[in-house]
This record gives sequence, structure tokens and C-alpha cells, in this order.
Amino acid sequence: MGIFDDFTGSNFEAKDLLGQFFTIDLQDDGFTLSNADESVFEEVEWNEVNDVFYDDDHQTVNVELTGGKILVIKPSYSNYPQFLKSVPEKFPNFNREYVSEFYAELEGCFVCGMVAVHDELCENCGCGHYDPEIDGEEFATPEAYYKQMQLEYFELTVDPGTSKFFQRFSEWKPLITEDELDEYNESLE
Ligand SMILES: [Zn+2]
Repeated sequence: MGIFDDFTGSNFEAKDLLGQFFTIDLQDDGFTLSNADESVFEEVEWNEVNDVFYDDDHQTVNVELTGGKILVIKPSYSNYPQFLKSVPEKFPNFNREYVSEFYAELEGCFVCGMVAVHDELCENCGCGHYDPEIDGEEFATPEAYYKQMQLEYFELTVDPGTSKFFQRFSEWKPLITEDELDEYNESLE
């Protein structure tokens, strides 16, 4: 079965341990799973899926295809929370209590204003929580860091808007003005 084997059993685990970074991209009727250089690229339609169920750890999700192969979806994969919410209702073995538990542990993002931070990284905007060891050299304070991230994240207006997947973060506040955003955008041209 070629490349599907990479997602099952020991081959797949070996790749994962090498630190391959996988991304899940959602489509209307399914999703794709790929690594950074797309040497692994799988396209799955929900109507080709037999079953979706959690592993014993209540974190890893197994997607069993009609041919019997199992794709392993891990919390470290980019867009994992969005994936959890996209599993169609027709899979009764997929325990949505664990989805709720996962979402309950997400933290608020000071950049984009959504409750979407998992393992120090925001799944909505891609920004990390301020880390003095990594960001401290360039940014003296968390506020300076978040300000720069807001300049880079927001496009036309400083407004988190709404998300299909994430709640608004009540403690979020704009650290930049609309004028500063305009100036920043002009400076990029
Ligand atoms: Zn964010």
C-alpha cells in the first residue's frame, strides 16, 4: 500500500521520533496530512473512513480507513484542535468528552485573542507564548513581544473577530493602534 504504511506501526513511529512536523489541513469533506517537505502527503475523505477513535492515552486519534489502514493523529500536529472539532457526527466511537477536555486546557493567546494555545503555541495564529530565553534577546518585555506579533498577525484592523473553532480570550487587549498597524503595513511595501 506504499505510503500509507508510513502512518502505521513502527515506520511511522520512527519518523515521528525524528521530529517530523506534520500539518493537518481541513477540507469540506475530509483532510490532508503532510510533513514539511510533503514527502508524506495523504488526502482523506470522510466517506473513505470506517472509524475514528481515541488511543488509550485519550490524546492520539486513530482514523481507520475503509481498507483497514490506520492513520495516527497526534496532539503535536499542527491544527490538531481544529481536526478534533471536524470529525463528523457519524462516528459514534469518537469520544467527544475528550475533545471537550482538550479544549478546556487551552490557554488564551495575547496575540490573536483566541483561547487556542496548546504547548506554548497558538493553534489559531501560530505565535508562541513569550519565552524570556528565546524571545528575551530581541524583546525586553512580554508586552514588546506581543505588540510586534500583533503587528505581524493583524492585517487590516486590530480585531480578533470570530472563529469556528476557538472562543474569544476575555483578557485579550489590543497593544497596537489602527494607526500603528497602518504604518507597519506601509513600511512593508
Ligand atoms: Zn493566537
